[in-house]
Amino acid sequence: MDSESPKLQIFFFPYILGGHLIPMIDLARVFASHHSHGVKATIVTTPQNALLFRKPILRDQQLGHDIGFQTIDFPAEEFGLPDGCENELSTTSGDMFDRLFMAAMKLQDPLESFLRKTRLDCLVSDRLYPWTAGIANRLGIPRIVFDGTGCFSHCIEESLRRYKPHEKVVSDTETFALPGLPDEIELKRSMLPDYVKNENGLTLFLNEALEGELKSYGAVVNSFYELEQGYADYFKREMGRKTWHIGPVSLCNRNNIDKLERGIETSIDEHSCLSWLDSKEPSSVLYISFGSMPRITPAQMVEIAYGLEASDHPFIWVIGRILRSSRESKQADQRVEDLLPKGFEERMRESKRGLIIRGWAPQLLILEHQAVGGYMNHCGWNSIIEGVTAGLPMITWPFASEQFYNEKFVINVIKIGISIGSEEWVPLKAQPRVTVKRDKVRDVVDRLMGGGVGGEEVDDDLVVEMRKRAKEFAAKAKKAVEKGGSSATNIDAFIKEFKSRRENNCLQPASGRASKIGDY
Ligand code: UDP
Repeated sequence: MDSESPKLQIFFFPYILGGHLIPMIDLARVFASHHSHGVKATIVTTPQNALLFRKPILRDQQLGHDIGFQTIDFPAEEFGLPDGCENELSTTSGDMFDRLFMAAMKLQDPLESFLRKTRLDCLVSDRLYPWTAGIANRLGIPRIVFDGTGCFSHCIEESLRRYKPHEKVVSDTETFALPGLPDEIELKRSMLPDYVKNENGLTLFLNEALEGELKSYGAVVNSFYELEQGYADYFKREMGRKTWHIGPVSLCNRNNIDKLERGIETSIDEHSCLSWLDSKEPSSVLYISFGSMPRITPAQMVEIAYGLEASDHPFIWVIGRILRSSRESKQADQRVEDLLPKGFEERMRESKRGLIIRGWAPQLLILEHQAVGGYMNHCGWNSIIEGVTAGLPMITWPFASEQFYNEKFVINVIKIGISIGSEEWVPLKAQPRVTVKRDKVRDVVDRLMGGGVGGEEVDDDLVVEMRKRAKEFAAKAKKAVEKGGSSATNIDAFIKEFKSRRENNCLQPASGRASKIGDY
């Protein structure tokens, strides 16, 4: 780096959802790791979120990366939230989630006054803060959008907006094709979010998010070009977005400590987790996790447990927060083990066949262990890209958000997954129910993990192909972030573009330093 040239000041403003917050922290760390190019990354967030992610940031600082936090207060009290409740991971009910969402809207004024006093070259903010586009434009700062998803789901949304194929079918279960996309993709109306089928408050909010995106300078995407080439091109060419594919950002977690202490404290220690995995044959374990939000109901948990037990394959099952009906939440103290079939957990423990993690799992550590050979997930984008990076074929089980779109990506575009057969989009606060029965769980697990379907041996060439393709994508993912790889080159191009913008605009270099942990 030219020692005279001031550092490029990139500010990151993450959202309050785990699936947005976690990759944006990694994103900031990725940019800061390009320190030889003169980059300084500042994460603007609320005090509790800064505390949550202090350890990885501290380790990066010790490596000499210029990265730190600036905090703005979160109006928890004003919205009746407990002190320290500053992200979705710390909510315990749908009502708290609504209040958290409202409180996050109130960050607008504190953010603007903070940015007015600060010099920066660009603001990377979450898509779900549409108002950051207005603030950035008022202050003459280029805003870059990030939302933790790939391009694919945005292309699906665009096709739905442009051609409205879902309005041309007569029933929710009729299949329709999405026009204009690089691949043949089909959906059913039952798989679409309610805010797409009928206009509601969220539709209006997401329209604002889209307007905010259109007013922004560009977008950074946690994906790599080789993974979704056709959609990256579509996003640029057809939708006119300036984008940089810079992922997988989770690859900035290079060693075990980074994979273990990625932010949220895990419910199992490194030794217990790794020694259990070390005792298993290569590629024999199925990892099951449905992301950071509560998605599984007690009744569905029972079906999964019976299905796993019948399938006879080793597994790690992460049971996070449970989705309960109001009647069930009156018994919220009921222990999770009481919700599982009687004796299930003891049988799994004694036979060492299943490891159940209640709470938060060190996902990257598990996915990248050689004993893991398959991944059942809810098709959150981070889960998909982390599974791709680990070279794992998947069982797809979407529930909400854009997960049904992502499922199509796994099944039809990169072709590394088998669907569990979930076809109905469920709002987060929907009444608990069972959508997949135990026999289906057993059959799909048997098929992906080998050993036939329902105990009958089958020679499944498709699964063999999936495993091969998954490994090839993993190699491409790792190559993308290495020097000269597509994502690393895109980051270099981003830095170069913003440096030259600054020179041409004759902007003053930033004067403040991001606070080190403990400065606030
Ligand atoms: N995650 C984790 N441990 C858990 C559950 C989730 O580390 O026990 C992480 C996972 O690695 C991913 C994120 O949480 O980075 C979940 O994001 P995703 O987009 O897959 O799903 P969301 O929770 O947003 O639906």
